[in-house]
Amino acid sequence: MALTGLQIQKLLPKTNCRECGSNTCMAFAMKIAAKKAEIAECPYASPEAIQVLGAASEPPVRGIALGPDRMLKLGEETVLYRHEKTFFHQTAIAINVNDTDSPGMIEETLTAVRDYRLERVGETFLIDMAAVTQKGAGMNGFATLARRAWETTGRPLVLRSESPSALNAAAIAVKGSRSVLAAATPETVDELRISAKNNDHVLAVTAPDLNSLFRCASHLRETGFHDILLEFQTSSLAEQFQTNSAIRRAALKDAAKPLGYPFLRFLRDTGDVLTIAAEAITEVDKYGGICVLPVFDPALMATLMTLRLNIYTDPQKPIQVEPKVYPIGEPGPDSPVFVTTNFSLTYFTVSGEIENSGTSAWLVVPDCEGMSVLTAWAAGKFSGASIAKFVKEVGLEKQISTREIVIPGYVAQISGELEENLPGWKVLVGPQDAADIESFVRTQKARNKRET
Ligand code: SF4
Repeated sequence: MALTGLQIQKLLPKTNCRECGSNTCMAFAMKIAAKKAEIAECPYASPEAIQVLGAASEPPVRGIALGPDRMLKLGEETVLYRHEKTFFHQTAIAINVNDTDSPGMIEETLTAVRDYRLERVGETFLIDMAAVTQKGAGMNGFATLARRAWETTGRPLVLRSESPSALNAAAIAVKGSRSVLAAATPETVDELRISAKNNDHVLAVTAPDLNSLFRCASHLRETGFHDILLEFQTSSLAEQFQTNSAIRRAALKDAAKPLGYPFLRFLRDTGDVLTIAAEAITEVDKYGGICVLPVFDPALMATLMTLRLNIYTDPQKPIQVEPKVYPIGEPGPDSPVFVTTNFSLTYFTVSGEIENSGTSAWLVVPDCEGMSVLTAWAAGKFSGASIAKFVKEVGLEKQISTREIVIPGYVAQISGELEENLPGWKVLVGPQDAADIESFVRTQKARNKRET
């Protein structure tokens, strides 16, 4: 839990010696509280102060990194609700294979994990992990399948078995992948901790009830082991929702350190994709760390990826595209010119509709700080003057002979100002809705034909 300036000041030497660059210890404490200074800058800080401040600056949900390059990050969350600040690391999606699945099905699933790719608003989304569950094969078969999953997908794995020796064999087989061993129980936690530590993996812990799980995670912490995930056992969607919420609240609001780790959840294979979707959506909505789906379903995957994108986007930083002039199709010097803002969703909607109209065009996208058309206009970021300035800065007038520019119908009021600032240009007011661009283009083509 973050300390106040006053609490921090009580831990400092209070000599006001200024060696930290601040005039007083209190001023230095205020800087630390605002995260503008670190305790290491005070040469006289006591070991106790360093220890207390170090613990206080840890995020309430510990960060866990997976994969050989440690690029898949989980945790480090600091708020319960996205609008309070932002969520930092999105729920990782994994697809499970069982060692009892047919060879064809295993191959198909692992290939899907490797090859799945979804483009949305200019970003590419992949499946983060594969999971391998031991149901029937012996220890060696499980380890062999784990190795194959790692080699095929190149993704970190979740290895699940009730047998510590099978998990240990698989952990050795995929050493270097920095995967997850699932799951240690109060009885097996010490044995699996050693396996996870020796092979540089993360250990999921589970227990029949929350008190036992708390004790199990506390025990691991006491040994100095912190590469932990928490796996709760719940029996209904409502319980899943309540448990995830209660645990995250305890970690953030009550500083319950043993509960301050990302979650792991294997979804039940109910055979009903809607039930699976409901549970997966609950995980993405409610603080899921890793959500393991029992099957690969492209429609469900697209739904989850899109939902996750919306929840884990920083509300203070809208997704935006680079401000520039985009060619749509193969435009020439006399192709039409459209203008819109650099909010990704707006850009991709408008560019898609221009493409659908079958015409090639130039799409002028000035920097509007990622705002949509009306928001940018209301904030003064999408005015006649700013659009004209951008058109001149990018040298559009030298590239093309067209002197007509189409503005979004919602900002018809800037047409006069734009014409004033772009002498020699004619401003056309386009449709309010991007879906009407196609008919707008048709009307313009007919008009041009009549005039020639
Ligand atoms: Fe206080 Fe330490 Fe800064 Fe000196 S260096 S003023 S003791 S905080």
